[in-house]
Amino acid sequence: MAATLVLAVPLAAAIAWAANATRLEQQAVVKEQAAGVAATAAAQLDSYLAGLDAMASAVARHPVVVSLDGEKANRLFVDLLDSRPLVTNLILLSPDGRVLGAGRPLPPGFDRVEWPFIPDVIHTKQPYVTDFETSPFSGKSVVALVYPIRDEHDAAAVGVLVLGVDLVRLQTVFASVPLPEGSVISVVDREGVVIARSAEADKFIGQKSGTPPVTPGAPPVTSLRTGLDGAQRFYGDVAAMQGAWTVSVGIPRAVLLARILPVWARNLAIATAMITAMVLLGLIIVWQTTMHLNRLRSAAQRIADGDLSPLHRAPTPNLEFAQLQDTFITMAVSLRDTRDALNRQMAQERKLNEVLQSLQRQVVRQERLAAVGLLVSGVAHEVNNPLQGILGTAELLERQAGMSPQALDEIQFLKTQAGRAREIIRNLSRFSTQHSRPPSIVDLADVIKEVVQLRRRDLEDANIALEVQATTVRKVYANATEIEQVTLNFVINAQQSIDASGSTGRILIRLSDAGKKVSLEVLDNGPGVKPEDEAKLFQPFFTTKPVGKGTGLGLSVSYGIIDAYGGTIGYRGNDWGGATFFFELAAAETDGTDINDRQAVLRGSV
Ligand code: ADP
Repeated sequence: MAATLVLAVPLAAAIAWAANATRLEQQAVVKEQAAGVAATAAAQLDSYLAGLDAMASAVARHPVVVSLDGEKANRLFVDLLDSRPLVTNLILLSPDGRVLGAGRPLPPGFDRVEWPFIPDVIHTKQPYVTDFETSPFSGKSVVALVYPIRDEHDAAAVGVLVLGVDLVRLQTVFASVPLPEGSVISVVDREGVVIARSAEADKFIGQKSGTPPVTPGAPPVTSLRTGLDGAQRFYGDVAAMQGAWTVSVGIPRAVLLARILPVWARNLAIATAMITAMVLLGLIIVWQTTMHLNRLRSAAQRIADGDLSPLHRAPTPNLEFAQLQDTFITMAVSLRDTRDALNRQMAQERKLNEVLQSLQRQVVRQERLAAVGLLVSGVAHEVNNPLQGILGTAELLERQAGMSPQALDEIQFLKTQAGRAREIIRNLSRFSTQHSRPPSIVDLADVIKEVVQLRRRDLEDANIALEVQATTVRKVYANATEIEQVTLNFVINAQQSIDASGSTGRILIRLSDAGKKVSLEVLDNGPGVKPEDEAKLFQPFFTTKPVGKGTGLGLSVSYGIIDAYGGTIGYRGNDWGGATFFFELAAAETDGTDINDRQAVLRGSV
């Protein structure tokens, strides 16, 4: 609405200005035309009067006239009047006003006239033009042209020749002047009295008009006036007959209007067509702009809703929109990249968090296991001595003569139970880092081979696929039998967990580098370990297996072995939903120094 006003106001002003300018231009044209026609009419009048003047001068010198022969003059005048329809009469007067001859007979009683100009003309011997008058003979509106008749020697005026000019018919002089409809040509005398008029001459001749006086020889004067008939016209006034008369041409205002209206109509049509075109152009631009803005808005909404999929480049109406679209697409791409980077970072942080939690659990577990190990080694040591005593005493009793078979049976039972107890004590001692055999460079690939050899048949019977992946050739420094025991323990546990879950089994033994360490993992697709059991896995006697099948010593003994070599043992879940048990041992440098150093370290730790 405001934009329409902003556009409409200057537009209306421009149209009004153009319309007014056209009016002024056309007004000037009409005035110019009036002035031009006035000049033409004045020239025509002047030339007619000059002709009349020449004729009158010739007549005034005619011998018949000079001799004041009335009769002969009458005949001459009749002939002349026939060829001059505007001349009302030709009268020959004596200096004292006696009528000597007339082209048209005068009414009775006009033998003598007393016109005031006769003595003047006789005296000055100069021609004279009267003001407007009503002819005393014909009753017509006339002006009289008075000429002196000089004697043969041109010394004195012997008479006067009077020419009456019919003012009503004078307008016929202007008949050939082309004029727009409603225009008038009038002739006024020095007093402003109308002496000729091209329209309604009878009505207005003799009336005083408002025609201003015009300097003889000056260019036509133009003005807008109200004429005697009350109509407004553009007038062109010009002096005729050496300023004695003024020829005035009036062109009605209606002519101006008739000329302006088509120009206005044409300009209005052009303006309307232009405005329509502008409005249509504006609507197209607004429509296109709105369409593209809507497209950008829906793209922005999509982004706001979290959809950062690539935006398609659409055709745009102009360079600015193309740049805006490019900027938008670039912004969406960088937003997507930022989000992807954030997602990656979050995933990494989540993983790190899991690793950290798992490490924390391991630390807690290891501390607890270390305490348990200390306790167990003390108990084992203390219990071992009485056990040795019991076993020794039992053997002494067995060797004594005279023992009844029943007593021997009971001694044997005593020995068996004490032997079991000693075996348990031995295992417990190994959990508490007691090394029984000397370490050496061990290739874990060989250890795995041994274990596979041992378990292959059993696993095949249980329909469990066993796979080995070894991506390192690095070795460790340990006791091969102990490491084999740990690995075997892992594989047996994996097999047992798969058996229990009843799924189609799969076990993977993986040997790989873990920084400066070598890692051995055993993965299975069994049910895995319950979260609440994770903390207890490596404690002695923790088992979930039925009595007779599990002792709960396998993992604790394994812990003791790996811990003694400064390694790490642990558990984590895997992608198959099962369990992964692993240990990591420092990779052995194969030169002797290193081995010696490690032996020293091991001795120190025992
Ligand atoms: P045992 O095998 O005699 O039970 P271990 O110390 O070897 O003793 O194992 C302790 C417990 O750890 C097992 O009873 C079992 O609950 C759990 N465990 C060990 N290995 C696995 C495995 N691969 N999958 C699921 N649980 C396992």
